[in-house]
Amino acid sequence: MFDLLIQNANIPGGQTGLDIAVADGRIASIDRNIPANKAREVIDAGGHLVSPGFVDSHMHLDKVLSLGDTESKTLDAAIRNFTLYLQGIPAGMLGEDIRRRAEQVIRLAVSSGTTALRTNANVEAASGLQGIQALNELKEHVRDVVDIRITCLPNFYDGPEAQEQRLQLIDQACGEGLIDFVGGANHHHDNCAELTERLFKIAVKHDLPVDFHVDESDEPNIAEFEQVARLTMEHGYEGRVSCGHVTALNAVDDVTAARAIEHARKADLNIITLPSCNLYLMGRTDKQPIRRGVTRIREFVEAGVNIAYASDNIRDPFRPLGNADMLEEGLLTAQVAQMVTTSELETVFAMGTVNGARAMGLTDYGLAPGKRADLVIFDATSAPEALLSQAIRTHVIKNGRVVARNSVTAELLF
Ligand SMILES: [Zn+2]
Repeated sequence: MFDLLIQNANIPGGQTGLDIAVADGRIASIDRNIPANKAREVIDAGGHLVSPGFVDSHMHLDKVLSLGDTESKTLDAAIRNFTLYLQGIPAGMLGEDIRRRAEQVIRLAVSSGTTALRTNANVEAASGLQGIQALNELKEHVRDVVDIRITCLPNFYDGPEAQEQRLQLIDQACGEGLIDFVGGANHHHDNCAELTERLFKIAVKHDLPVDFHVDESDEPNIAEFEQVARLTMEHGYEGRVSCGHVTALNAVDDVTAARAIEHARKADLNIITLPSCNLYLMGRTDKQPIRRGVTRIREFVEAGVNIAYASDNIRDPFRPLGNADMLEEGLLTAQVAQMVTTSELETVFAMGTVNGARAMGLTDYGLAPGKRADLVIFDATSAPEALLSQAIRTHVIKNGRVVARNSVTAELLF
């Protein structure tokens, strides 16, 4: 007896008319004509798209919904404005503040079909591990509706002495199992190369994967990206390293970029592109023509490098927009990357699902027997149509249980 049976499903890639049976939170069978009387609950997908859940592989849940009244016109200004926001939180209340804002965004994310996400968590000498602890509590609290993975993000502006404290805190948090990925935005620091090397060593020491912000600038300098590829191969970390942004790759010439992309392929790096945030923050000092500031998505795809898109910042000083909706981010990605044919839209859809799961090392993710039943049913017949129409996600299923339902009624009165 199955717990749940989804009948007549179309799946990403174009297969149609499939039944998906679920037992004990996992996919038990994908076949044709599985009888309805073999399941306790039946959902008729009616020829609509059923995909594995969205994977938002680069978020900042500790920053979301912190937008003040000031516009941040550059990345540096956004960092300053967020620092001001933090200073306004009463002592000892940081954890509570983060949990309140993050939980609101998690509800948005789950209702739009996200079943796994990876969030950065700021580490500052001043507040110690408060933020990371708050996000760990939240991770536990929502574990039945969304899988959360945490990446540490050493903060920017508290000086060289604080840097040693931050590294110690990260080492401690790794030892206590509070962090899933070792991260950093090292290009903000004068000693970027040294910091990248030291954080990588901490990851190796604790056998944790790596998830860096890399070369998030408009300057034609991709030294950090090249260094991360080198370190990945030196430490035998192929497949276990994510590089977010890599916007500087846009500013270098084509030959240099092609060489770096080849190194990324050899190191099996996972690239996370964040178009919505980049479009907002990059190119701010350009006169026309203003660069888009988004990494070379199409070239990574063509080279066979795993690349995912993610939502990054949501209604905070780094980006005042966003709904934690991966279908919305996907449509933007398709438009910015100019990937709009049917097969290209399938590729973009995979960037928000399977590619993100691969970057996060989610081995029990996917549409196959034995994998977790994290599924989304769309009011659309295919992945390209779901992107184009921003289809309603009628059912969001986590571990075989329906955790969100959406519907909309529209009447044309002419
Ligand atoms: Zn980020």
